[in-house]
Amino acid sequence: MIRLSGVAKSYGPVVAVDGIDLEIAAGEIFCLLGPSGCGKTTLLRTIGGFEAPDRGCIELDGVDVTAAPPWSRPVNTVFQSYALFPHLSVAANVRFGLETLAMSETERDARVAEMLALVKLSDFAARKPDRLSGGQRQRVAIARALARHPKVLLLDEPLSALDRKLREETRLELVELQARLGIAFVFVTHDQDEAMAISDRVGVMERGRLVQVAPPAELYERPATRFVAEFVGRVNLIARAEGGWLAVRPEKLRLGEGPARGTIRECQYLGERRLVFLDSALGPLTASVAGDWPVPPNGAEIAFGWAPDAGTVLVR
Ligand code: ADP
Ligand code: MG
Repeated sequence: MIRLSGVAKSYGPVVAVDGIDLEIAAGEIFCLLGPSGCGKTTLLRTIGGFEAPDRGCIELDGVDVTAAPPWSRPVNTVFQSYALFPHLSVAANVRFGLETLAMSETERDARVAEMLALVKLSDFAARKPDRLSGGQRQRVAIARALARHPKVLLLDEPLSALDRKLREETRLELVELQARLGIAFVFVTHDQDEAMAISDRVGVMERGRLVQVAPPAELYERPATRFVAEFVGRVNLIARAEGGWLAVRPEKLRLGEGPARGTIRECQYLGERRLVFLDSALGPLTASVAGDWPVPPNGAEIAFGWAPDAGTVLVR
């Protein structure tokens, strides 16, 4: 569906995207995850046609679109800012992208109605964007981007302006919407929980490069590098005599049994889990235990260990 080969883009001396090879399947939710400044937006903009790569090739459905302008690609983008027209109603915003398509007025009206129903905004068609909540505005932007029936929807941090509860609701709606439409979503975020929650696969970016592309569970269970292990969830990095580290997730540390000894420094109650911070000869460690597990008091000594297959060896 989407194939990127050797895509690179610099701004003067700044290498924003540094040689990306990637294939994204039709109907996939693919997340680009990485810290601010790692090149996510730049890569998304090259797929959308808003930036021309310095090198490399972008194919959509087997067609080389590297030099094609945005409006001629079967792709549409939801920008981080939503970029709605403030003077136009919700319906007119959604209708905007249809003006250049060969359709009758009746067909356009029907398409706008279909899109507003899809994002559950049929009752808001006549409102101006400033009379909507953040979540509703975001849905207008999505409806507008979907109105031309793109094969791929690109979303740049589409939930970052929403507060936490609304963000979680909206990401559930996005996943349901994607399942109904069956088109590919390429989703940019710096929020690892968001990426893990919605994606079929995640590409972790670091300084313009993809360091690992994998389904969420594989990313978490088998991170390829220290950067990925630390970016995706909490991790204990235990230095190995041979060099490198053993990465052990907090829930894989077993407390109360095992060959090692530590001292409980602090325990944080999080409801269904407790995080236990230990000092040990291996360095400071964090364990995650069930919320009702009887953690000994701060300062107590405790045995701990982990199963032989609990960790991942990292060499870089
Ligand atoms: P992200 O979306 O992951 O935060 P960006 O793709 O926006 O990262 O930026 C990647 C790098 O490219 C950053 O160092 C950023 O400052 C730089 N950059 C992005 N856009 C421009 C631009 N238009 N002009 C100059 N530098 C840019
Ligand atoms: Mg960005």
